[in-house]
Amino acid sequence: WDMFVLAFVERLFRPTYRKDDFVLGKKLGEGAFGVVYRVSLAKNPASKKEGDLVLKKATEYGAVEIWMNERVRRACSSSCADFLYGFLEKSPKKGAEYWLLWRFEGEATLSDLMLSKDFPYNVEAMILGEVQALPKGLGRENRIIQTILRQLLFALDGLHTTGIVHRDIKPQNVIFSEGSRTFKIIDLGAATDLRVGINYIPKEFLLDPRYAAPEQYIMSTQTPSAPSAPVATALSPVLWQMNLPDRFDIYSTGLIFLQMAFPALRSDSNLIQFNRQLKRCEYDLVSWRKTVEPRASSELRRGFELLDLDGGIGWELLTSMVRYKARQRTSAKAALAHPYFDREGLLALSFMQ
Ligand code: ADP
Ligand code: MG
Repeated sequence: WDMFVLAFVERLFRPTYRKDDFVLGKKLGEGAFGVVYRVSLAKNPASKKEGDLVLKKATEYGAVEIWMNERVRRACSSSCADFLYGFLEKSPKKGAEYWLLWRFEGEATLSDLMLSKDFPYNVEAMILGEVQALPKGLGRENRIIQTILRQLLFALDGLHTTGIVHRDIKPQNVIFSEGSRTFKIIDLGAATDLRVGINYIPKEFLLDPRYAAPEQYIMSTQTPSAPSAPVATALSPVLWQMNLPDRFDIYSTGLIFLQMAFPALRSDSNLIQFNRQLKRCEYDLVSWRKTVEPRASSELRRGFELLDLDGGIGWELLTSMVRYKARQRTSAKAALAHPYFDREGLLALSFMQ
């Protein structure tokens, strides 16, 4: 009950908003379940020009998304974009819509940054706020990729420790926060909180097939229905241990790691083709490598070279994330302790100069 009272009091003193408070700016995204705009507050002319907030007008799934964002805000706020407020807006024309409000974190998602020819150097400049004087090359690229992956796993570990599985981890849902100079996770629209049973039955139609792990359902079919919320709190940590639902996100994160190492796999069509190849290899990255490496382009070979640095610890980590069986995949916390991250990342590099 303390938790509820605290949450209620906190919520009471937080500013609340309504429909007419916002001036809509640029549309940032549009999916089947909502539209996202950059917005500013009407009563704050200083912020009018650009818009320092983000507004999502969501359909029925908005209710779950508000719930997830409230929980993240209290339990692991640094993992995700800074959530301000969510409410139900009833309009005579559109019926019920959920409105969600975040701080505008920055212009670029990891997807935008990865599509640049300059990746990963463009990210290095954003994280450090300066350009490195060191020569470009595999070692430096590896450090940048390592730093991005560590930030992503750190954010994911926060969610997983809270009991939330995101289920839609992909470069489009990772935003670079210009304020903290780190990557944060966005879009909790498909997320599930297994400890309290919210959105427990996976809506597999929400899952993005490009990044989804091979298991269709996150929980085993022996636990098909959600117990009601208060009862589930006591039960689900056990289910969590048994079924390791968090490993779904680890698979997706592994694919992001792969795309960072191999520029050729960054396009949608090539990623889809890779997924087909991997399926044919029964989701075994080692056998995938054996089939493609002998006739690989120099660009593809360069990706393997990057992962093979320092005795192949990058490759070792990647293969521990992208595995068919969820049970055999590493967790976010274990991945963060992997020797791949023993080497200091970008910040140490800048101190060395
Ligand atoms: P959906 O994928 O359901 O359309 P998202 O929550 O992923 O909705 O948001 C869509 C896009 O809006 C993101 O890919 C990102 O470009 C942008 N965006 C979302 N939240 C923020 C934020 N807090 N700061 C900056 N940009 C954001
Ligand atoms: Mg999204």
